[in-house]
Amino acid sequence: MPTDTASSWSPSSWRTRTARQQPTYPDPDALDAALRKVDRMPPLVTSWEVDNLKEDLARAEAGERFLLQGGDCAESFDDCTADVITSRLKIMLQMSLVLTYGLDAKIVRVGRFAGQYAKPRSSDTETRDGTTLPSYRGEIINSPEFTEASRTPDPQRLLKAYTHSGLTLNLVRALSEGGFADLRHPEYWNVDFMAHSPLANEYQRLVDDIGTAMRFIDTVAEQALDAMERVTFYTSHEALLLPYEEALTRTVPHKQGVYNLGTHLPWIGKRTNDPEEAHMEYMRGIKNPIGLKVGPDMTPSQLRTLVRHLDPDDEPGRLTLITRFGADKIADRLPPLINTLDNMGHSVLWCCDPMHGNTERTDGGIKTRRFANILGELEQAFEIHAAEGSRLGGVHFELTGENVTECIGGARGLEATDLERAYKSLVDPRLNYEQSLEIAFSVVRKYRN
Ligand code: PEP
Ligand code: MN
Repeated sequence: MPTDTASSWSPSSWRTRTARQQPTYPDPDALDAALRKVDRMPPLVTSWEVDNLKEDLARAEAGERFLLQGGDCAESFDDCTADVITSRLKIMLQMSLVLTYGLDAKIVRVGRFAGQYAKPRSSDTETRDGTTLPSYRGEIINSPEFTEASRTPDPQRLLKAYTHSGLTLNLVRALSEGGFADLRHPEYWNVDFMAHSPLANEYQRLVDDIGTAMRFIDTVAEQALDAMERVTFYTSHEALLLPYEEALTRTVPHKQGVYNLGTHLPWIGKRTNDPEEAHMEYMRGIKNPIGLKVGPDMTPSQLRTLVRHLDPDDEPGRLTLITRFGADKIADRLPPLINTLDNMGHSVLWCCDPMHGNTERTDGGIKTRRFANILGELEQAFEIHAAEGSRLGGVHFELTGENVTECIGGARGLEATDLERAYKSLVDPRLNYEQSLEIAFSVVRKYRN
């Protein structure tokens, strides 16, 4: 248990516990060789950035910031292209512009990218036409085609995941620091199909309003504008494949601590949160801020145990609870969890993931989510937190900057029959560009009421 063994934590102490959702590699020596290579690679992020994020999240906890976390359910190596990365950045910048202006709050931007390559699955195997193969577990492990060769876990993929994370991060950093994200030029973020969107006018009005405010600031404080040229993007992913996470876990002597330097904000998924098991053991010892997914089956007593385990000192910014109940369950499940932490006097950042509790299948068997349910869960989250004297401090979406058809509904009224037209996700359905922007406007309308 956490307190007795606190001194015996190490980046590898998780190895003595049950580790769920791990692949079985046919050649353990090849796995060790790949891990040794990752271990020698430079870190992808720095401890200073990680500490800055923790401070930003502490401010969000105090109501001075609002967290926007978003990206693919699962990144793919093929999507490590200029177009895909830039479009995702554009939609996140547009959403954060809408949120900054509408909520009158600074936005903390965290991408589900540059490492979101490992996926938990409900079954270890998949059977098609009498053939059983390992399930697809994300690009860091195997590939989706239904052949034995593709589905066999391949340790070389650890190195590919590392390099693709680095390449993604390189472009994100260059774009966000080099003027592309300049608030004075939101036109840089326009996308071709925007002009035909039912939301185009609403967005343009907002951009024009901001333009007026900017010109005013320009005349009074030139320095303030220099700061607007740059934005910070942090990265996050589910810390699922523990040997890889361990290889990117580094001791930072001058900080007297051990950090996961493969991402700023690792999170624990819903299927790997047993306090006696490996994922919780790994996460409790790193200095990063961490996310914990909270689903409809979590009881107040379980939540108290997890919170004590991961954040024994109630450190500001340490723990973000990402709730994902479903529109039909949140009203019942969220209030007792808020109250139990309130009674403990423990402070966390509450973030709403209105995606994962609202997944369904169409009659044709396609995995989808309804925009109305996503929005419904999010609106209830705002209301419930307010009614309980708490505060919703962030939102978490699966989204893409592309014009895909994976979720039903939204301003353009996508129907189940439209889904096949442009369904690209390898795992969960994402909000497309327009639906993402619409959600941002909806948050603002709700928050202002
Ligand atoms: C995810 O965020 O893609 C995911 C698998 O979520 P959860 O653990 O909440 O089901
Ligand atoms: Mn998902």
